[in-house]
Amino acid sequence: MGSALHCAQTMQTLLIDGLWCTPDSETAIDVIDPSHDKTFSTIGRGSAADVDRAVAAARRASLGVWRNTSALERGRLLARAASLILEHADELAAIEARDTGKPLRQARAEIDVTVRYFEFYGGAADKVAGHVIPFLQGHQAIAVREPHGVTAHIIPWNYPAVMFGRSIAPALAAGNAAVLKPAEDACLTVLRIAQLLIDAGLPPGVLNIVTGLGSEAGAALSAHPDIDFITFTGSPQAGTLVQQAAALHHTPCVLELGGKSPQIVFDDADFDAALPAIVNAIVQNAGQTCSAGSRVLIARSRYDEWLARLAATFRELKVGVPEGNHACGPLINRRQWQRVAGLVDAAIGEGVERIATSSIASDAPQAGYFYAPTLLGNVPRTHPIAIEEVFGPVLCALPFDDEDDAVALANATSYGLVTGVWTRDGSRQSRVARQVRSGQVFINCYGAGGGVELPFGGVGKSGYGREKGLAALDEMSVIKTVVQRYE
Ligand code: NAP
Ligand code: MG
Repeated sequence: MGSALHCAQTMQTLLIDGLWCTPDSETAIDVIDPSHDKTFSTIGRGSAADVDRAVAAARRASLGVWRNTSALERGRLLARAASLILEHADELAAIEARDTGKPLRQARAEIDVTVRYFEFYGGAADKVAGHVIPFLQGHQAIAVREPHGVTAHIIPWNYPAVMFGRSIAPALAAGNAAVLKPAEDACLTVLRIAQLLIDAGLPPGVLNIVTGLGSEAGAALSAHPDIDFITFTGSPQAGTLVQQAAALHHTPCVLELGGKSPQIVFDDADFDAALPAIVNAIVQNAGQTCSAGSRVLIARSRYDEWLARLAATFRELKVGVPEGNHACGPLINRRQWQRVAGLVDAAIGEGVERIATSSIASDAPQAGYFYAPTLLGNVPRTHPIAIEEVFGPVLCALPFDDEDDAVALANATSYGLVTGVWTRDGSRQSRVARQVRSGQVFINCYGAGGGVELPFGGVGKSGYGREKGLAALDEMSVIKTVVQRYE
């Protein structure tokens, strides 16, 4: 394959048993540049039969070549892949920016994060150790960690390269063979990076990719009887479907389903430090981030003052094409634009106040899916815009009365992914961190997206299981207990 873009035009976007191939059906899916609303490539529409072939190839690799590859060799291979991805970082960033619309500089930074996943799990591959268990006299009991076998990975369009690294690097490090279905809306960097893994020496069948629709290839993959483990990142609705399909074969899943993450700003906060972090956490990637900080909860005594400063910052931001390196780019597709605009318009129709909006750069194409970041105030605590994920650059500001009220408000959605806490009071930092229902808590900082080393995942409607960090290796492997009597 010369490049993923070339490959996409030939519809050879399925990777099965080490070979790029076209799907069973002749139907293609358009790949659209969201900054211009223009089709610039096509990908193959994989079917259930294609998924069958991919799973069979992964099973062969899992029982053959990959089982005979030592952890040390797996680690070295991932490290070689990391170097190759880094060598191609500028090319990959350009593809990612065009495919998703995100600013070029951000896309380049995300390729560095992708590299980090391969470095981190490459280094960890030979450290997945079990333990010895004190047991009956004359017996030795050990718990060993083994790969699941064949893992399935369904990833979204918001951070394609990063999500690929986050999911595939730990799966391969732990010794699994994988089948991945990327999102139809953006998957070209995934195809290019897969080729780099092959170039690094990945044996055929260890990584297989089926491009296509969620309702077809994705559904077939999650319902497949020969899959041993699934990771899914996307909407709660699709997550439910994946979970239901997986239940038919008792396949374990890790689900990462987004959030409505709060930034709690107490009256003693260093607001100069908080302000850029709060704005970035909702504007980055046009708010299309599972861990976006989409609610800012402000101590009532400082609410008017700090809301005014947030508003001033929002008004300065610009949205535009990737090359402009603006605050953010367009939304991913027309449907997403209509959804975000519809949710905001409905809220405003019901009395929510538009406090500030950013602007769209004058050279941004009319046809692009640009949505100006929007700050909303006077938001009733139970209004859908205050409790449901928008997945766009929309920040809801809400006042709170005291610490108990702040915690109650932070916990007042069904989600629980990330929480930001801004206060100088050390005791309060610890109290609040312990009381919020959340997979991650950041104190006087906020980490939307980054932190390859940090276990990540949600509670409640945000999903379950943990990715990233060493925790991902626990998920991607399974304990086998072996008891041996020696007396
Ligand atoms: P989505 O439908 O959940 O898509 C995520 C992934 O799941 C894609 O690869 C998708 O494939 C696949 N998929 C869809 N239906 C499936 C099914 N029945 N079985 C198996 N896989 C399936 O999300 P979306 O429609 O792109 O976006 C809608 C909303 O989801 C957003 O507004 C946002 O709230 C949320 N979302 C969250 C995240 C996150 O990071 N937590 C990421 C994306 C979206 P195709 O897209 O190729 O059909
Ligand atoms: Mg696209």
